[in-house]
Formats: sequence, structure tokens, C-alpha cells
Amino acid sequence: MSLLVVGSVALDTIKTPFGERREILGGAASYFSVGASLFTKVRLVGVIGEDFPAEHVEFLRSRNIDLSGLTRIGGGKTFRWSGRYVGRMDSAETLETQLNVLGEHRPPIPENFLDSQFILLANDKPDNQLHVAERMKSRKFMMMDTMNLWIDHFRDGLKRVLAVVDGIVLNDEEARALGGDSNLIAAMRKISAMGPKTVLVKKGEHGSIIFSEGRYFALPAYPLESVRDPTGAGDTFAAGVMGYLASTGEVTFANLKLAMLYGTVLASYNVEDFGLDRLRTLTRADIDRRHAEFVEFLRHGSD
Ligand code: AMP
Repeated sequence: MSLLVVGSVALDTIKTPFGERREILGGAASYFSVGASLFTKVRLVGVIGEDFPAEHVEFLRSRNIDLSGLTRIGGGKTFRWSGRYVGRMDSAETLETQLNVLGEHRPPIPENFLDSQFILLANDKPDNQLHVAERMKSRKFMMMDTMNLWIDHFRDGLKRVLAVVDGIVLNDEEARALGGDSNLIAAMRKISAMGPKTVLVKKGEHGSIIFSEGRYFALPAYPLESVRDPTGAGDTFAAGVMGYLASTGEVTFANLKLAMLYGTVLASYNVEDFGLDRLRTLTRADIDRRHAEFVEFLRHGSD
């Protein structure tokens, strides 16, 4: 079924203990759409500047992503984000954010995208997310992402988006801040009371946990020794979740649990190399192989 993502397309500069990359393809919508394209056809809405390299557009197109909602602003500069990871690399330190066209333009949603049934409102200013959310009349499952900046300083706007979405995905620190409770489980229940029936929390190397209509389920992360660049882990996790759900078309608790397995597997591949490099060569067969290994890892028994 149709899967739409609305979010940032960026040029990222990233430093980790394993190296540095300058102005590579990034942005939440790029990670999400490339990841989810391994599960279903993806529609992308985003904005880029005149300086955005044609090779990146070609790469996205080569993944069968519908780019009719990617708006290029003549004379504009693409959004840029620069961050670094140190030590355990459990969180990014933002070194610089240049909003450029992202701060000045709200890309139009093509008419033929308005019937999208699965929607990911990637991390963005709550007003922008609400603008999209209110137009999605055919939706079956709309999930939002967010970040501390909006939780801390744009809470009223965020609450208006929370009131209309079906799900939210965020990390544990953000969940505690948004829910206003240092106990993660209590915080998730409080977030759900603000609107979204499904609350999905990422805990980095400690896995993920879901609360949905009174039920909880938790997963560890895929056991991985080689993490080179965590950028996009959250977006590719969301991509596996939404990509799988859109491919089944049914949002049941059982499917949400399976979707978390795919999100975990996709994110584990993504962090193995810089930027989107690992996803460039990743195949559906790779996903299915690691998925089977992960299921075996989770299996309990007497052997
Ligand atoms: P993640 O590591 O999954 O949380 O997301 C990383 C991506 O988020 C990077 O590729 C950045 O370009 C993008 N990003 C960083 N800050 C922002 C922001 N303020 N708005 C939208 N996207 C952002």
C-alpha cells in the first residue's frame, strides 16, 4: 500500500571515531525512503536547493522512489547538518545546522499523494507536520517522529500533531521529556494519552519498546560488533517498521511486533557504514537473512 514520507533531504557532514565524510546524502526522508524502498514503493515530499547534486536525485530515483514531491528551489541552498559521535557513539552531538531552504519553504504535497495510506511525518517543526497531517484523509496509519528541540520549545504545536496521529516514534530520552516522567513505561502511557494509540521508543544499543492500546512489547537490538556511523539509525528503524506495515496493509499488534523486527534489522545494517553507503548495496535477501538470524537469537528454549 502507498507509503508517504515528508521530511528533510540534506547534505550531512559526519565525524565518528572511524572517519569523516563531508556533504554526503542525508536527511530523515532520504534515510527513510531508501530503507523503506526495500519493502514497498515510497513517495517522498521534501525540499532541496539548486546545489543538490543530480547524482543523489538519480540514486533516490533508482530505488523506485516517487520524487514528484521533491521540490528544487532555484538559487536556494540545501539543508545542511553536521554532527559527530564520540566514545560509545550513543548520541549525536550537533556541530552545525544550516536550515537554508528547509527553513524557508514548505514543499507542496502533490495531489496524487493525498490518497496515501501509510505516512511518516519525519522530524520537522510541528506546524509543518500538522499542515501535512490534516490533509491526509485516506490514511490508515500515520506516524510522527520528533526531537528535543520541539519537545522543549514548541510543546503546544507538538500537542496539536499528537492529537491527530496514530503513532509516534522517538528515543527514550525524548519520551521521558515528552511524557514528563522519568519512568519510561509511565512516560509512554502518558504520551499515548495525548493522542497516538501507538508509542514506539528506540533505545539505541538496548533495542526498542512499544506501547499500543494497553499492551507492551520489547526487543533487544541486533547484536552487532561493527558500528561505524549511527546517523540515520532512527530513520531506518522507522523505515523498516512503516515499510513492513505498508507491505502487509494491516496494523495489528502482531504486525507491529513483526514490524519492529524489520526496523531493528534495517537499522543494524545502516549503522555498519557511513551515511547511506550500506543501504546502497543492501538487498531484500540480506534483510531476510539477518531477520532469520535475529529470530534465532531471540528464540528461547532448552537447547
Ligand atoms: P537520525 O540519526 O535517524 O536521528 O537522523 C539523522 C538525520 O536527521 C540526518 O541525516 C540529518 O540531516 C537530519 N536532521 C538533523 N537535524 C534535523 C532537523 N532539525 N530537521 C530535520 N532533519 C534533521
